[in-house]
Amino acid sequence: MSAFDTQLAHLQHADTRHAVEIGPRIWWVGHLLEDDIFQCHVYLIEQGDQSVLIDPGSLLTFAHTREKIEEVIPFTAIRYFICQHQDPDIAASLPTLDALIDRPDAVVVTHWRTQTLLKHYGIRTPFWLVDKNDWRLQLEDRELAFIFTPYAHFPGAICTFDKSTGVLFSSDLFGGFTEQPRLLAEDESYFESMRPFHEHYIPSPDILDFALTKIAEHEVKVIAPQHGSIIPEHLVPFMVEQLSHLDCGIYLHAKENTDIQRLSRLNTTLREITQTMLLYRDFRDIAARLLHVVSRGLPVERIDYYTRLEDGTVLTLSPENQFSGVRDPIPEGIARLIGIDHKEWLRLHHEHPQLKAHSIRLGSFCTHPSPDGTLVLTLPLISPQTHVVEAVALLQLTQIDELTREDEQVIQQITMPLQVALEREVIYRSIDSKREEAYQRSIHDSLTGLCNRLYMQDVMKRQCRIHDRDPHAGFAAIMLDIDHFKSINDRHGHAAGDQALKQIAELMRMASRETDVLVRLGGEEFVLFSLGANQKGAIMHAERLRSLIEQRGCSLESGVSLKLTVSLGVALRAQLEPLDAVIQRADQALYRAKQDGRNCCRVAQPAPAQPPAAAGECFPAG
Ligand code: GH3
Ligand code: MG
Ligand code: MG
Repeated sequence: MSAFDTQLAHLQHADTRHAVEIGPRIWWVGHLLEDDIFQCHVYLIEQGDQSVLIDPGSLLTFAHTREKIEEVIPFTAIRYFICQHQDPDIAASLPTLDALIDRPDAVVVTHWRTQTLLKHYGIRTPFWLVDKNDWRLQLEDRELAFIFTPYAHFPGAICTFDKSTGVLFSSDLFGGFTEQPRLLAEDESYFESMRPFHEHYIPSPDILDFALTKIAEHEVKVIAPQHGSIIPEHLVPFMVEQLSHLDCGIYLHAKENTDIQRLSRLNTTLREITQTMLLYRDFRDIAARLLHVVSRGLPVERIDYYTRLEDGTVLTLSPENQFSGVRDPIPEGIARLIGIDHKEWLRLHHEHPQLKAHSIRLGSFCTHPSPDGTLVLTLPLISPQTHVVEAVALLQLTQIDELTREDEQVIQQITMPLQVALEREVIYRSIDSKREEAYQRSIHDSLTGLCNRLYMQDVMKRQCRIHDRDPHAGFAAIMLDIDHFKSINDRHGHAAGDQALKQIAELMRMASRETDVLVRLGGEEFVLFSLGANQKGAIMHAERLRSLIEQRGCSLESGVSLKLTVSLGVALRAQLEPLDAVIQRADQALYRAKQDGRNCCRVAQPAPAQPPAAAGECFPAG
């Protein structure tokens, strides 16, 4: 068969009062109904006295369809009447047709499942079942293949594919609602006509996927659907691709709302909210996205969130704190709601004098006008586990007097995702704070609260690297050991020894700056790293500490006061000197302090010359 113009530009201005040839011996013979976005198309494949009529139509259109057929061929030349499914807009004309058919070999071509319903028209014309005939119909100059597309939109639905021209008679698939009847889909915007048609009437994405997969087995050039517009070759891949990502079955969200335009909007909002929850972990991002999504349909000025934390305090997440959360005192009206169940919430609104002006919506949230002219929506977020209000969302709407039913539904639908988002936020915060607690525990000595050796290694090695690059970033190590500590234990008991250790730690804190790193090395040995110190400063620091401890001593819980002294050793780190070496020099100085009679401070020998660092490890000052 000769190729034909699959872009079908000639359909743009076709005169639909007459039959229109859309492809080689393929004719559109439908009838446009006025004021109907649901146009139904009928196609004729001209094959001499073996001609084929696809989806004959309804009683509203059949008389016109018949006239158009007669423009091309005599009606009696039709042998095959294909019904791709059983809907009245396809098949209601069957009894009329049946009366007109005057040849014994005429058949109604359909799937067995469709036949079980169509037979109730009581027609004489026999059925020719595609599933009993190898899903093929051989004609004069072409073969038709039948594609089984179950449940789209009927269990026995089929499409018909003309292999020789690449035209797919797609039945309801690829159909659309057209405000302005157009025989030809002119550009990508036709998809927006297809969208509601499929979102609502195809029950699920699986069903649509299956149909698209079956169709993809054929080399489709042109799509001639029963509704909407004919899709020319250049738009076919786009429409297929778009359909393959479509949400279907959104009547399931309908509740009592069956306005499909509204449902589509609602569905888009819901989908975006779900995606937001999946994509973002941080509540700050979720809050920003939610505001954006909700404000497309409602004049939302701001949304505030309040959520109860594990310790019972309530966190406020508001635009002022960029939704990072603060533990400010919360409004009394909110505090009243936290922790109550749904029944109590309803009762509160009936009984509490301040809540009488609030109107309850859909039994799940309430609204009240605020003095500044805005409308305030209070959404209690009830946990499915505890069945009580764990969080509250407060929406402020401007320029709105009343909420429509659709608005109410949007609000109701965001309640659950919001509840989940806030519950997740509480869990994340709890995990984060436990992790932080565990980390703090791991780096601190439990008795004195000073840092431990592990943390010292980590922090001071980093400090060494900084010093290796910058000679001004040096530090001193001041080693400290309690004098005759063993005798405190021996005389006053181990608990008293512990108290002494704690008090020494406290005095060390008192005598140091915030940037100093205080470490309990073990037992009654401590080291204090004084960052940025020079030799003189470090010695003064050590001496100050020594005299403070000597003056204060230690007062035990028993009321006994003990005299307490410490010995100290000071070492100033040389660039490139290993951390262990500095500590060792400070320790040697401390040993001398002990030898020199204790309760004194000694300065370490200068560091020996350091071997040069490996290339790239340091940048000594020039
Ligand atoms: P010196 O002046 O030479 O430093 O004498 P000293 O007694 O302070 O030193 P020594 O090293 O002989 O004794 C340290 C004691 O510290 C021995 C040990 O039982 C005690 N000790 C170590 N850790 C703790 C602790 O966590 N709590 C208590 N109560 N005692 C501890
Ligand atoms: Mg000691
Ligand atoms: Mg000791």
